[in-house]
Amino acid sequence: MVAPKAHWDVIVIGGGTAGVIAGIAAARTGAKTLIVERGGFLGGNAATGMNLGGFFDGSETQVVRGIPQEFVDRAVALNAGRGHVFFRDVDRWISSTASIDPEAYKQIALDKVEEAGCHVWFYTTFVRAIEENGSVASVEVATKDGPRVLTAEVYIDASGDADLATSVGVPFERGGGTKRQAVTCMFRVSHINFAAVEQFMEEKINTEKKTPWTFENAPLRASHKYWTPWKISPDDAKRFARQFGIYYHGRPGEAFVNCTHAPLESLEPDDIAQCTTRLYRQAVEVLDYLVTNVPGFENATLTQVYDLGIRESRRIVGDYMLTVQDMVNLREFDDVVAMGAYPPDLHDATRGFGDITIHGKGFAGTTEEVGIPNNPGYQIPLRSLLPTGIANLLVAGRCISATFEAQAGARGMAPCGATGQAAGTVAALAVIQHKSPREVVLADLQRSLLKAGAYLGKRVTL
Ligand SMILES: Cc1cc2nc3c(=O)[nH]c(=O)nc-3n(C[C@H](O)[C@H](O)[C@H](O)COP(=O)(O)OP(=O)(O)OC[C@H]3O[C@@H](n4cnc5c(N)ncnc54)[C@H](O)[C@@H]3O)c2cc1C
Repeated sequence: MVAPKAHWDVIVIGGGTAGVIAGIAAARTGAKTLIVERGGFLGGNAATGMNLGGFFDGSETQVVRGIPQEFVDRAVALNAGRGHVFFRDVDRWISSTASIDPEAYKQIALDKVEEAGCHVWFYTTFVRAIEENGSVASVEVATKDGPRVLTAEVYIDASGDADLATSVGVPFERGGGTKRQAVTCMFRVSHINFAAVEQFMEEKINTEKKTPWTFENAPLRASHKYWTPWKISPDDAKRFARQFGIYYHGRPGEAFVNCTHAPLESLEPDDIAQCTTRLYRQAVEVLDYLVTNVPGFENATLTQVYDLGIRESRRIVGDYMLTVQDMVNLREFDDVVAMGAYPPDLHDATRGFGDITIHGKGFAGTTEEVGIPNNPGYQIPLRSLLPTGIANLLVAGRCISATFEAQAGARGMAPCGATGQAAGTVAALAVIQHKSPREVVLADLQRSLLKAGAYLGKRVTL
């Protein structure tokens, strides 16, 4: 039996990278807010051990501030991450990334949500929404206590896959023609002898004698170029993906590895099951290789394999679709509500492990090929968060309205957090002003974001 309806000002579907920040922003702005999260923690993909990219542009101007920066500050205060890490070497692919230990990220998210007075339902999955007269009328969620129907004035879809938006018929795109971004399960490795690994990398891999490879600067390197550990053996190199991301958050002997790599054709349960199984096996295979071949990994153990990491699935078609040209040309939007500096980062799903041969990173449209020099910041307009045809719905995070190549940048965690803060703020203002998100006065919205610490480019000031 469906339980009685509960009414909220704002419901956020998904308590991940963008959703948790959307919930905090909405609650702080004065809305009675509920985050619906299918898992048992907050933070989503930001809590899988990677560094958060896209805070600073190439000139080291901080373009993502506000609530995402509060997470970095709290982590540093807790000694649970290394904060912003800059890399000034020519080999860099991005100017900086932020290091936060994933368990600390989850804890900080819980604390901040509570401090903001935002309500959370864990282990609660969005199932479907009912659309009436161009608005979301209600959402059905599956809880351990059975199905519930919930209503809100404004909804935010931060599910990553645009589950809510597509449920009410919002048009969407997936992939770039036949191109697909690879999916990856991150994994955590413990008991590494860092000094021995760094010596190995320096002697065997860094033969061009570029800046020494260290665990500390690893996430910022153009990794595919010269430091993948299996590069020493061409036969081994055919077995593994060329991308090999390593992240270190200040915990002795512990690193997080981004290397597993497979295509995912659909969100069908069978496809997801096969892909997840394959990626788990790859994690074991990669660690076996490292233990056997790379000094310093002899005693390493696989501590944790994280949930399936999807880089791109359904991107909604909104009032405006962000393009790479907007990023390259540093286009300024009158309705800018978020910024980012994560460069388009494409991982070809058809290349990598097993039967598939290894090739370079990305497709046409990657940072190098598009020729975006110096990792510039870019603006994200409110219209990219507004799904076509639905009045009381916003999207945030990696499913915003952007082309395949532009999403490859906007999917970075700092821009995702920034779109979360924007969506939460506009949703709450809409409730308070008894308007739809499209009707909120832009100047009020931008002022509210700036007062909350966000940055919207040089032209938008208080
Ligand atoms: C392998 C990999 C490596 C990456 N590397 C980097 C990197 O180095 N730096 C960087 O900045 N970015 C990186 N990214 C990109 C970045 O991590 C993601 O794009 C970003 O975290 C997505 O944020 P999101 O909020 O849109 O989605 P998520 O963080 O995935 O959040 C979605 C949330 O919604 C919940 N959810 C989903 N469906 C439902 C439902 N039906 N009901 C209820 N809850 C639901 C999920 O459980 C999750 O908590 C990487 C991504 C991947 C996959």
